[in-house]
Amino acid sequence: MSVNPTNNPSASSAKELDEADPLSRFRDEFYIPETPDRQPRTYFVGNSLGLQPRRTAELLNEELENWQRLGVRGHFTGRFPWMPYHEFLTSAMAFLVGARDEEVVMMNSLTTNLHLMMATFYRPTGRKRKILIEGHAFPSDHYAVESQIKWHGLAPEDCLHVVAPNSNGLFDMDSICELIEQQRDELALILLPGVQYYTGQVFDMQRLAQVARENDVCIGFDLAHAAGNLRLQLHDWGPDFAVWCSYKYLNAGPGSVGGCFVHSRHATNTELMRLAGWWGHDKQTRFLMENNFQAIPTAEGWQLSNPPILSLAAIRASLDVFRRAGGMEPLAERTQRINQYFRNLLNERLGDTIHVLTPAANDKIACGCQLSLQVLSPNVSGKSVKGKLDSAGIETDWREPNVIRTAPVPLYNRFVEIKYFVETLASILLDHS
Ligand SMILES: *Cc1c(COP(=O)(O)O)cnc(C)c1O
Repeated sequence: MSVNPTNNPSASSAKELDEADPLSRFRDEFYIPETPDRQPRTYFVGNSLGLQPRRTAELLNEELENWQRLGVRGHFTGRFPWMPYHEFLTSAMAFLVGARDEEVVMMNSLTTNLHLMMATFYRPTGRKRKILIEGHAFPSDHYAVESQIKWHGLAPEDCLHVVAPNSNGLFDMDSICELIEQQRDELALILLPGVQYYTGQVFDMQRLAQVARENDVCIGFDLAHAAGNLRLQLHDWGPDFAVWCSYKYLNAGPGSVGGCFVHSRHATNTELMRLAGWWGHDKQTRFLMENNFQAIPTAEGWQLSNPPILSLAAIRASLDVFRRAGGMEPLAERTQRINQYFRNLLNERLGDTIHVLTPAANDKIACGCQLSLQVLSPNVSGKSVKGKLDSAGIETDWREPNVIRTAPVPLYNRFVEIKYFVETLASILLDHS
């Protein structure tokens, strides 16, 4: 392949690219895990567990101290009283996913929120009772959907429509849209990912939401791999709901509280069927304890319990880094540059040995951070490559049957790390051939 140095970013040195990018400095705001000989690891698994911002401990300690000093009074006093604590996250979170404040709430965890959303938005009636999901969906999503169908006394064999991917594990948006049109009278709900966790494929959420609405089918997105990764415009795109977690690209720590979006056309409808709890009840009368449920007319109306404040404090610390970096627009632009550089370098050095499973960006769909790589050499197992990358201080993620997932994150990964990764991979693979 001939390479034109003027429009090929990998021609400039990785170091220069790092120095030229004002966003590079945000790396200093994170703790970078180290190898046993105390070198920073090349951490390409922010799609699995994002790194810890340096300020997280401070915000957690503030709440631990409030609890020490104030006890129960911490609910109402302190800089950030616990009673409304989740509200301190709303605007920053809504900004990151392109939503209005009343459409977003941080609560529970992803799969719990998925069930709560299906309790409202999966209302099978007559023939209209199927749920459409993607083949090889993340197991938790598959289990949640299947169990919802059974919960309604229905059979997954009749009611679960699993769309098969092509032989590379990818999904064709045209086919899914056609399917929605053909099956509109039988589909009660569509649940699709914003970014498919295995291949890193970015779905055309805007188009899917539009086609679903035109055909009168509810649609929800699982944004586990999209929140904090892509520029999202949930309000304008108009899905009925979306759910995500905060411990992947959102850097809020293992098992931290998840996020939930309910479109404003539903969020303000207090009559909608839901599984309710006291934290979703009208704030003015919550403590009258009168057992007459009145939903808050926002996404908060789906809350069940008073939330874990320490986890929310970690989310606050993380959202603050995103805010200071300017939100998703500059970060997503940096991702496009990193992604292009990564692809070019892989292609130059390893074009015949590595297949990039993840589709490239096009004029409609931007790419995300993740590149899923398949090793093509028949005499090398992908899993042994992953082991050798570990020994070289590079953290990647291996998924059966044969994919190495890498996710350079715009907040803390650098161009020099991509260069190091590709050079290391080349020495592992080209040694073998
Ligand atoms: C990470 C992930 C989950 C995890 O669910 P939790 O309820 O947070 O444990 C679920 N679905 C998808 C698609 C994921 O990527």
